[in-house]
Amino acid sequence: MDDLSLRCRCGRVRGVITDVRADQLQRIVCYCDDCQAFARWIEASGGARYLDAHGGTDVVQVYPSQVKFTDGLERVKLMKLREKGLYRWFTECCKTPAGNMLGNHRSPFVGLPTAIVDAGEGRTLDALIGPPSAFIQGKFAPNGCPPHAHPSAPLSLLARSARFLLRGLVTGRYRPSAYFDGDSPRVLAQVLSPSERAALYPPTR
Ligand SMILES: [Zn+2]
Ligand SMILES: [Zn+2]
Repeated sequence: MDDLSLRCRCGRVRGVITDVRADQLQRIVCYCDDCQAFARWIEASGGARYLDAHGGTDVVQVYPSQVKFTDGLERVKLMKLREKGLYRWFTECCKTPAGNMLGNHRSPFVGLPTAIVDAGEGRTLDALIGPPSAFIQGKFAPNGCPPHAHPSAPLSLLARSARFLLRGLVTGRYRPSAYFDGDSPRVLAQVLSPSERAALYPPTR
């Protein structure tokens, strides 16, 4: 297949993932506490819930140079859960998650939560790119590790990720990036305060 559409919940932000090849991307469901915290922040900010029944985030990981925004790029904003955290992009219009990456313009990947991926009328993402290949960080799931998930990350995934990231680094696919102007993110990151952050994590932490 060629392109996969991106569309925020309200439709003001649209884009595409270009040159989609099922064997060159990774679709992973992550149960980690940071992904959960970000999803809770999205909800608390007026966005829709997108976690699965066990608290997982379904993410399509591609190279930054594959992501193009065709509408509403100016509405794509940036937050970090903590100063040294991942860049977590979102749309300010309807608080749809719009890409997670290392906090650096050389991030060799961007993970797009499927909440912003639009399979199209009558089509499913499973049919287009296949189901998730791994369910990771299950130890953080609120009701215990789901039976289909790995408590942390399986070795097979680490090996595949290493290949994916290495290929991205070698071929320089961190650029051009819609998220950056040169080496700097397009907008300043909003960083949560310790108390804002604490409210998003389970109290046992
Ligand atoms: Zn929107
Ligand atoms: Zn995660």
